[in-house]
Amino acid sequence: QRRFSRFADTVLGEPGIFRLMDDLDAALTGSQKLHMLGGGNPGNVGPVSEYFRRAFLRIGESADHFARVAGRYDGPAGNTQFRKAFAASLSAMYGWSLTESNVVLTQGSQNAFFLLLNLFSGPFPDGRGRKILFALSPEYIGYENSGLHENSLLAVPSKKIPLGDGFFRYTIDIERITQALQTGNIGAICISRPSNPTGGMLEDDEMKNLSSLARQFDVPLIVDGAYGDPMPGVVYGNGRPYYDDNTIFVLSLSKTGLPGIRTGIILAPADVCSVLERIQAVQHLAPGGLGPALVQEGIADGSFFKLCKEHLPVFYRERQRLAIDTLFNELEPDRDVQIHRPDGAFFLWAVFPRLTISTSELYLDLKKAGVLVVPGSYYYPGLPDDDRLSPEWEGQRSIRISYSQDLSTIQEGLSILCQVVREKNSRA
Ligand code: PLP
Repeated sequence: QRRFSRFADTVLGEPGIFRLMDDLDAALTGSQKLHMLGGGNPGNVGPVSEYFRRAFLRIGESADHFARVAGRYDGPAGNTQFRKAFAASLSAMYGWSLTESNVVLTQGSQNAFFLLLNLFSGPFPDGRGRKILFALSPEYIGYENSGLHENSLLAVPSKKIPLGDGFFRYTIDIERITQALQTGNIGAICISRPSNPTGGMLEDDEMKNLSSLARQFDVPLIVDGAYGDPMPGVVYGNGRPYYDDNTIFVLSLSKTGLPGIRTGIILAPADVCSVLERIQAVQHLAPGGLGPALVQEGIADGSFFKLCKEHLPVFYRERQRLAIDTLFNELEPDRDVQIHRPDGAFFLWAVFPRLTISTSELYLDLKKAGVLVVPGSYYYPGLPDDDRLSPEWEGQRSIRISYSQDLSTIQEGLSILCQVVREKNSRA
């Protein structure tokens, strides 16, 4: 048996995200035709893909340009010209006062979260151990196992608000969040907005409440904007992006259509950026320069944000309508199926109140029937066992459905799903 340091302990227990990615990959490389409603891949949206392809060709056409992008290391915080343009553009759009000292680029935002969740959890110099507090639960599966120290994540269950006609939304439980903060054992609050997995989006006044709590208890608020404004801009309602001098706002180029190029962007107070920059130098010298180079011009003049806003929400909205219509036509809204109001991103979070089996079992039945979704129970990083045992816990009654695929995959896949759910529903 090989001897590893304790570093390996953080991943030896098979993280949920590993099991899931591995399972999805195995299912996809098998011979059976599958309706893929499971992964987090963005759709292929013609005009935006074409924009990237042309930018790629322009870089390749000029020997000088190519050498500038691929032939040298950027600084450890990432390309300075890009960071300046990004800070200036967002300041102009939202009235924030950012400079390049507030911007750090990373190898994808997943990597940004690994750094941030560890910077604000684990042992602190004052002798205290602190945790990351997830103010919403369910929450993004990719945060699980990110903490290098044991028990470094703590989730507060969301409150469920029924909206009628088969819809509901989750919101934050301010009382329980306050109680958790009062222990003094929290190092940062973290949420995804829009949320993966629910597609929900904390409203502007809920964000204000959360951010004033964070400030009151002197912990930063980390906001994961992987699906939100200003890019990819997959937001259907009015929620505005949130930033202030106690916020760390994390963005990514992945969901605009570039997951293969790995570009994350952290906006944060300069003292946080300066630590991140040092860790990055140690971890990988410098982040990659290709992603920033592809969108540099469009970030500087704002045209890239407009392009995303023009094409991405409509692309996903069409798929979302089809997915909701299929579920509500084939199952009885509220009684058989409840859907989280989709405010952004490209997921539906569906709860099946009359199901006689758990959604982990449903997931296996669906896989046999050629449909891949993700069982809800994966999406509760940091949720204490007591809360998992509560009758209100919806992890075993829910699934996450991605609607980034083509329309026929969505319709056929969900029809099969509805049939399986009807067979497994209680007759009462
Ligand atoms: N945050 C959320 C909510 C996500 O869904 C994802 C990817 O699915 C990420 C972060 C990480 O994305 P990337 O590392 O490609 O930027």
